[in-house]
Amino acid sequence: ELEDPDSEENPRKKRRSGDVAVVVEHYNARPDVGVEQRQESPIIGLKSFNNWVKSVLITRFAHPVLAASSGQRRGRMRGRVLDMGCGKGGDLTKWAKANVAEYIGLDIAAVSVDQARQRHAGSRGARFTAEFFALDCYTHVLSDALPPHLLSTPFDVVSLQFCMHYAFESEAKARTMLRNVATWLRPSGVFIGTIPDAQQLMDHLDAVPKDAKELSWGNSVYKIRFEDRENRPMFGHRYWFYLQDAVDDVPEYVVHWDNFVRMASEYGLELVYKKEFHQIFEEHAEHPEFAPLLERMRVVDSNGESHMDEDQWEAANVYVGFAFE
Ligand code: SAM
Repeated sequence: ELEDPDSEENPRKKRRSGDVAVVVEHYNARPDVGVEQRQESPIIGLKSFNNWVKSVLITRFAHPVLAASSGQRRGRMRGRVLDMGCGKGGDLTKWAKANVAEYIGLDIAAVSVDQARQRHAGSRGARFTAEFFALDCYTHVLSDALPPHLLSTPFDVVSLQFCMHYAFESEAKARTMLRNVATWLRPSGVFIGTIPDAQQLMDHLDAVPKDAKELSWGNSVYKIRFEDRENRPMFGHRYWFYLQDAVDDVPEYVVHWDNFVRMASEYGLELVYKKEFHQIFEEHAEHPEFAPLLERMRVVDSNGESHMDEDQWEAANVYVGFAFE
């Protein structure tokens, strides 16, 4: 176990200030409500859809790489996954279905990390080995923070779901994130993720009327607010994000896409897939494997009717999914 990054004795805690502190406090404070209560969420349709998109990405891009892994093997279970920004372990079941042999979950929010660890320990289907650490993955390089044996075999898959945008606060953080992704990823391994779509954010920002009191838009489900219309830096391009029953006005950063792809290539990462969420839906909604999954994951009901209202659908479309090799 690593030192507790939230302990008052931890010198790093004192240096953690500003936006990062807001993000950590926000995620630590959100309770893990459990499977049943999760179904009561007013945006359960959207949450289910986001989970379906992640399942599609994991199945399409991670399953083949894990199946071809020559690394860690136990029975038919293969491969190693690094989940950076793992949160409360919301993807553990997806990785169990991927037959992964070994999983490492990292997150800056120590309370979430504990909940993820408990979730793995308590789940009947958790046949794979999992280790969890509280770590700021955008400030610290993994080799300084993790026990060396965890890095002696490369990862087959690195996953950053709904969290990579926090790294774009500064170039140094984005580069540390990419270094952590790429250094221990095996050749032909994949890096998958989900982030807000910069193009859409910029288009919306351009569309805010000149005389508007606030540089914001959204609906009953989400709200995005910028502080500046003209200044659009490649790093530290901040906005405030609110998502009903999920994110309470937290600072996030635009991931300017071409800049990100260019930088990723410096770390040997080559883009193989990028789609907006609604495109991912259209591409897979009739698919023999992913169509039934829409119903099983309660994105649609047995008549094929969506559980998402229009506002939730619009909020879902803020995001893009990607895969690099
Ligand atoms: N990946 C999970 C999922 O898809 O359910 C959680 C997503 S949640 C929206 C974003 C997560 O990013 C939070 O758990 C937060 O603590 C984590 N995060 C933000 N900054 C981080 C950092 N510097 N290092 C590690 N995790 C970070």
